[in-house]
Amino acid sequence: MARPGYSVVVPTVGRPALDRVLEPLLDATEDAPEAVVVVDDRPPGAAAGAAVTARPGVRVLRSGGRGPAAARDVGWRAVGSEWVVFLDDDVVPPADWTVRLAADLADLPDHVAGSQGTIEVPPPEGRRPTDAEHATLGLAGAAWITADMAYRRSVLALVGGFDRRFRRAYREDTDIALRVLDAGYGLVRGERVTVHPLRDPGPLHSLRSQAGNADDVLMRRLHGPHWRERVGEPRGRFRRHALTTAALAGAAAAAARAAAGRSGWGPAAALGGLWSALTAEFAWHRVARGPRTPGETAAMAATSALIPPLACYHRAAGEWRHRGARPHRDRPVKAVLFDRDGTLVHDVPYNGDPSEVRPVAGARAALDLVRAAGLPLGVVSNQSGIARGLITRDQVDAVNARVEELLGPFDTWRVCAHGDADGCACRKPRPGLILDAAADLGVAPEECVVIGDIGADVDAARAAGARSVLVPTPRTRPQETAAAPATAPDLRTAVRRALRGAAA
Ligand SMILES: [Mg+2]
Ligand SMILES: [Zn+2]
Repeated sequence: MARPGYSVVVPTVGRPALDRVLEPLLDATEDAPEAVVVVDDRPPGAAAGAAVTARPGVRVLRSGGRGPAAARDVGWRAVGSEWVVFLDDDVVPPADWTVRLAADLADLPDHVAGSQGTIEVPPPEGRRPTDAEHATLGLAGAAWITADMAYRRSVLALVGGFDRRFRRAYREDTDIALRVLDAGYGLVRGERVTVHPLRDPGPLHSLRSQAGNADDVLMRRLHGPHWRERVGEPRGRFRRHALTTAALAGAAAAAARAAAGRSGWGPAAALGGLWSALTAEFAWHRVARGPRTPGETAAMAATSALIPPLACYHRAAGEWRHRGARPHRDRPVKAVLFDRDGTLVHDVPYNGDPSEVRPVAGARAALDLVRAAGLPLGVVSNQSGIARGLITRDQVDAVNARVEELLGPFDTWRVCAHGDADGCACRKPRPGLILDAAADLGVAPEECVVIGDIGADVDAARAAGARSVLVPTPRTRPQETAAAPATAPDLRTAVRRALRGAAA
């Protein structure tokens, strides 16, 4: 059997169970992964949770607290294997997981782009699960969830990775699965099994999880009203919650009228009765399937009254936030970011002298095209000469000022002053400069096109989720040109492509 190579990507917020995820991967003697990447998605400086430290065989990357979609993108874009397997940081793959995964991926036809592992959630012993535990048990039947999901790397790139508008660990996996299916690929269920321990996130989980109603709005905008049927998910309780909330609001309004003497109390009593009946039915539905302890029953009674209006609130917030949402890949270009040396100006290594600045042919005209289109533009530049002591920050600033004199103003300048050994988040091919520049300009990284002259520019764009156009120079290595998703013979053509949204 042909066994294709694979890498494992585990996004984490530093949960202590991470070691149990990694154990069978690192101990594997057969069908071991090509790479194991842990993406630490805690915001910079966050101290919560266990430290995520690199251990032999594990690469640790950071995604800066931008959510699981961004973290998974940072992870898969950093590996080169044919397949990428996403595991959640709280699953327990059995000891033979690598062998069974390799068997699942072996001989899959080219049109199959994904393989789902079966998630087993062991039920509690000797009692019925609580309402909060039911949420975890639901993972077992869910389709295409990234708790254990393998995708072809090329297809992840084709669909543009995860959609970061899904900011929580919810629906971003269903969204990408639907986009892969829309692209004409198939998804299959593998034979491997991964255990997800039963967790009880507490009774407040049912309130917090109502935020998902806003994500469901985005799902409907992006995938149409029938997306639940496509993933085999039963209709949620939202319609019932809307009716319950309407009864509550109607009862309050009718009571106000009656109190003001403008009508009798009949309508208020009727609507109040309807609200009570709907709330009681909802609470009973949740209590009946649970352990029916006094504490659980009290928690269900209280949260069942709060959930319907909370669901309506999040639904309305989602309708507002995602009004006019466009498909992931069709998002308009809203900013153009340029590499400096070798792209805007001829490369003079470690140049600290403004008089040595020579723009490349047509640079001013190319930049003016961007300005005429009303788009902001910025520069993202590695200047490791500062870290090496070859030039000072003041000299770099003086050179940058000269570039603006010759080429016109830029809306943001982002310079990495670090060296290779510093391990900073900004030095290209890492994404930091691009993320910071996008934030300066008030646009999403996905709405930026990066124009550069070497592979590090393209890779940084990819890691940030931005598009790119490579303009090769004699110093660009042929393999960098070959690997670039879009190239142009000169700066002006590159800008035209960027403005047409033709960058890849
Ligand atoms: Mg360059
Ligand atoms: Zn840096």
